Amino acid sequence: MTVANDLILDVEQVRKEFPILARQVHDGKPLIYLDSAATSQTPQAVIDTLDDYYHRYNANIHRGLHTLSEEATGAYEHARDTVREFINAESIREVIFTRGTTEAINLVVHSWGRSQLKAGDEVMISYMEHHSNIVPWQMLANELGVTLKVIPVDERGVLDLDAYEHMFTERTRLVAVAHVSNALGTINPIKQLARIAHDKGALILVDGAQAVPHQRVDVADLDADFYAFSGHKMYGPTGVGVLYGKAELLEAMPPWQGGGEMIKTVSFDQGTTYAELPHKFEAGTPAIAEVIALERAIRWLTGLHFELVNDWEHRLLEHATERMLAIDGMRIIGQAPEKSGVISFLVDGAHAQDIGLLIDQFGVAIRTGNHCAQPLLHSFGVDATCRASFGVYNTLEEVDQFVDALNRVLVMVR
Ligand code: PMP
Repeated sequence: MTVANDLILDVEQVRKEFPILARQVHDGKPLIYLDSAATSQTPQAVIDTLDDYYHRYNANIHRGLHTLSEEATGAYEHARDTVREFINAESIREVIFTRGTTEAINLVVHSWGRSQLKAGDEVMISYMEHHSNIVPWQMLANELGVTLKVIPVDERGVLDLDAYEHMFTERTRLVAVAHVSNALGTINPIKQLARIAHDKGALILVDGAQAVPHQRVDVADLDADFYAFSGHKMYGPTGVGVLYGKAELLEAMPPWQGGGEMIKTVSFDQGTTYAELPHKFEAGTPAIAEVIALERAIRWLTGLHFELVNDWEHRLLEHATERMLAIDGMRIIGQAPEKSGVISFLVDGAHAQDIGLLIDQFGVAIRTGNHCAQPLLHSFGVDATCRASFGVYNTLEEVDQFVDALNRVLVMVR
């Protein structure tokens, strides 16, 4: 659905839906939460959904014929269809619930990777990957003798597409790349990356953890072979995420974890047969309440309209960037033309850690550290940065208060 040009998001209304945003910290300072890239806050509707599940129909799924189990199973499978629609997957067979992005990537590494890759094959990742899209591939590469190639990133934090195209060989089997960088905010041109990978005969896995909360993701349009994301970054609960995979790929992949729920029959004499998709990849009792609440988060988020979310977060990004660049000695790491609401920064003469600790005293929550992207930060010649990241509930006034607090902190430490 398109939205009229003159509409803007009613942020005050949105904020009212997040009880935690009324919190005060450090002797009555209003909380200014600028760490949504790590974990977003949770609207009342999602909290209520969790509460309602435990109050009314907590039961294991796919197992019982009793009323509660049927209700829980129905809600869980309904959520799967909502996710399917949300990312425009063709079938619910292509939507696997996991514990999060990390587990979704590990599923592909262990199931697809172990069954499809041989020594000498190549997997391509990029310098801007989160550790969860690096380390599982490194582990597999070490085990199987697979070569890991790394796409370079330029000084603005943009992927080098020329290098990318030239890095393929006939042994390149898969590209694993972030849709949006959690450390820089860079939005990568996934459609183009996918087209190139496919032209070269490789698959593409997209880490969508930082994309899904901020823009409409259409896996069919992107032509992603695998797409992973987490609930807790998109106004949903922790402990739940999604792996999307094209049905024909998932079909051909062996199960990863074994246990209940993922089998058809188990026998000591005749061996074990596995359940159909998507259950083949969902061993054990899943995060039932969280899956159901994730559906609520999706409905909540799509109800805001992505065009408005996008516009608003872009305004926050522009305003914050402009005000921050006015600070003496400010260095913003990551200045890609296509950028999401993430600002990584350093200030001459001040340690990132000190800024993070002191600004918290003013009620401002930002992240400091390596953002689980050590190779990327090292390529910029730094070990740590401060990172402010925006959610749909942040306001321009909060940005101003953050910059004012930052200036006060800098007076203290420089
Ligand atoms: N990829 C990216 C780009 C991320 O930002 C994160 C979380 N910081 C992850 C993967 C890992 O997500 P999770 O911890 O929810 O598995």
